[in-house]
Amino acid sequence: MSFIKDFYHCYHCKQEVSKLEDLLFVEAGSTRSFCGEKCIEDYFKPITDQFEAREKELRKKYAVETESCLDFLNDISVMEAVMTLPDEIWCLENGIQEEIFSFIKKIEHEGAAPFYAIVLCTIFDTYPGFVLLSTITESKFLMEEFRIGEQRDVSSHFEDDTHLEDNELGVTSSDVETIEKKKSELLAKHLENISIADIPVEKYELYDEYLATTMQNPDEVYKKDDEQGDTLYTYIKAYDKEGVSFYYFVICIRLDIDTSEGEEIIVPVFTFPSVDGDLYRLYHDGEQVSGPLKN
Ligand SMILES: [Zn+2]
Repeated sequence: MSFIKDFYHCYHCKQEVSKLEDLLFVEAGSTRSFCGEKCIEDYFKPITDQFEAREKELRKKYAVETESCLDFLNDISVMEAVMTLPDEIWCLENGIQEEIFSFIKKIEHEGAAPFYAIVLCTIFDTYPGFVLLSTITESKFLMEEFRIGEQRDVSSHFEDDTHLEDNELGVTSSDVETIEKKKSELLAKHLENISIADIPVEKYELYDEYLATTMQNPDEVYKKDDEQGDTLYTYIKAYDKEGVSFYYFVICIRLDIDTSEGEEIIVPVFTFPSVDGDLYRLYHDGEQVSGPLKN
């Protein structure tokens, strides 16, 4: 064992993590990092328990201890909507600069009373990193309890990291060439495998809005080196659009760019939706990587 190297430890179990890229982060601008999903859960459990207890007290105060709209907590599209397209974002920063964010969205379903979906969370990049509490209520009073700290402008909040991709990281014209070449390779291969019953290629652009959430909160990520020696990452996430379930795929390439923090630069190259289970299995290729990656 040598002392002349970097040391990393899981915040929860304190086990050494040999490589920086194996650490999982749940928030930007913090060193709090973990060896795996289980340690993240275990670390936050006492905090989420406290928040649940506090919610219970507030529900008692406003006489909304049970509400039928709470069933929507299991509705992925509702939770996805509040996390990616909130009406309001609030941020409470304590005396030691720890931040808790609150995402709030009013949801109106036809024939049902409107309700508020609320998520208290840490932020990784611009999207929720770890959810500390999620709840749903018709009560404006209860909702107002979640307007914590200062309100953030929603559009500039999400703008924050989208501009990173293009120029600021020193992507050169030869990188752009590599990306273009990779794109045609991937498309050619994809066309061989796509089934006639699947979503046609000319409709792909209608699904562009799923790119950001797929990269921010993927269900699965696979990593592999292709025949040209490039490292590709495949991000996959399941969605539901107007009652139709589909998968969204984002295939990214890793660029070899020197950054001061030694982060990996991962750029989306080819994206597509699919309803085809066989195709889904085909893209389960390489080594599964878990946890959020810098992109
Ligand atoms: Zn751990």
